[in-house]
Amino acid sequence: MPETKASATPPAMKITTGRIGRTSRPDEIVIDVTVKSGLKAFAPSWDMVMSYKNGTLSEKGYTERYYEMMRASWKNQRAAWQKLLDLGKSGKTIVLVCYCPRGDFCHRHLLASMLKACARKQGITSEVLPEA
Ligand SMILES: [Zn+2]
Repeated sequence: MPETKASATPPAMKITTGRIGRTSRPDEIVIDVTVKSGLKAFAPSWDMVMSYKNGTLSEKGYTERYYEMMRASWKNQRAAWQKLLDLGKSGKTIVLVCYCPRGDFCHRHLLASMLKACARKQGITSEVLPEA
């Protein structure tokens, strides 16, 4: 039987990031991941945010602490992660939003790559799209 379909399987899940207040499309689910107004399962701590702002915590230090927090969150708040993964699998684009201006260092980018890694653990292919 001849094989006619040669196209690669598209990623099952799309992840992107943005600034709070951006307009969204119907196929997107916007998730606020800030400590101020967002889902605490994905937010940094106030201490981290303030320490980064006043210069006592470097980007590298912030990154290490945030990933450490998210590894704990993956264990302790799995339901929140699973909800995101399920939404992603359903075809919605997951949009992780924060107040930081576009192009600035921001935990939303760290979370996007963490979510991609968590999806991979469940056998879900995903891609992180640049900010629209
Ligand atoms: Zn941010």
